[in-house]
Amino acid sequence: MSTAADSNNSSGTTLIKREVRVTFWGVRGSLPTPQTPEAIRGRLREALTGFAESGASHADAYLESLPISAVGGYGGDTACVEVERVGGNLADDRLIIDCGSGLRRLGGKIMSGPCGRGQGKVHILLTHFHWDHLVGLPFFSPIFIPGNEVNFYAVQPDLSQNIQAMFRKPFFPVAFEELRSTVRFHQLEPRQTFKIGAFDVTPYQLDHPDPCWGYRIEFETPKARRAYAHAVDSECTRISEFDLGEDVKLYRQADLLLFDAQYTLQEAAEHMNWGHSAAPVGLDLALREGVKCIRFAHHDPGASDAKIADAERQTRAYMEALGSFAKQNARIQPDVDWRFAHDGDSILLD
Ligand SMILES: [Zn+2]
Ligand SMILES: [Zn+2]
Repeated sequence: MSTAADSNNSSGTTLIKREVRVTFWGVRGSLPTPQTPEAIRGRLREALTGFAESGASHADAYLESLPISAVGGYGGDTACVEVERVGGNLADDRLIIDCGSGLRRLGGKIMSGPCGRGQGKVHILLTHFHWDHLVGLPFFSPIFIPGNEVNFYAVQPDLSQNIQAMFRKPFFPVAFEELRSTVRFHQLEPRQTFKIGAFDVTPYQLDHPDPCWGYRIEFETPKARRAYAHAVDSECTRISEFDLGEDVKLYRQADLLLFDAQYTLQEAAEHMNWGHSAAPVGLDLALREGVKCIRFAHHDPGASDAKIADAERQTRAYMEALGSFAKQNARIQPDVDWRFAHDGDSILLD
């Protein structure tokens, strides 16, 4: 076990400012949720019928006009987010948050670079150790390649033993000791900023049944200093500035916030202490803290695409009600760009 300071870019050179792309490789909560053939057939039937009735001549343009719930759906891979400096070619230009099943596909992408030649370096920040945030790790190709270096970071002191437990018979055929890459563990200090390349990373506590830490990641783009706030998994039981204390800094003026919206407001009330929240809670927080853009994730594994689309409609109605209320009281409602994220969704912070 080493400290986070070991991993700092020690070259002392000034890094070029780059745009940063945040990509959501897995936005489903709790359990990978593949689409059933029945659900795909139903969606195809509706799309084909709609296409025929629309009189449109180009299928691609027609499909583009449909909401995500009517085409590909929100996706079924669990928690994994990539934060990447666009066009960067340094090992420290990419951070990964959590190892849900979405990590398998991200690993495939990474293998097309230095990791495929055994010359890569990977940084993985972990929020907590629930299965849906770890299940992709045994299928992360770079960790099996000799010459690669895989760095894990977490606040929790049992980081190394929990990762090693993922590679143990009879649960997985390859033992941790047999991994061919060099694996390093870095224990983080709560609310202490540390550097990975051009990223300044600070862990803040979330509200979840087992200790869970979100991350604020700040960086310089050609236009400005930007911040990505990762706040999944969290029930967000602490909302007021007083209750949040130091952890309010996770959200403050963030350019992009990923927020836990496993439930609707009513479902959240029925699932108190389950550790997950609802989109309107995130919007209230975002409006108060000056967040510019918010994406909602950790969709319930039991929720169909239609059900998630309905939660999105409820959220829109909530936003409209807030807007009307502000207007009646001669207040200006701040603009916030929001939507429910789907697997593969990405946002460029320029
Ligand atoms: Zn989770
Ligand atoms: Zn969890």
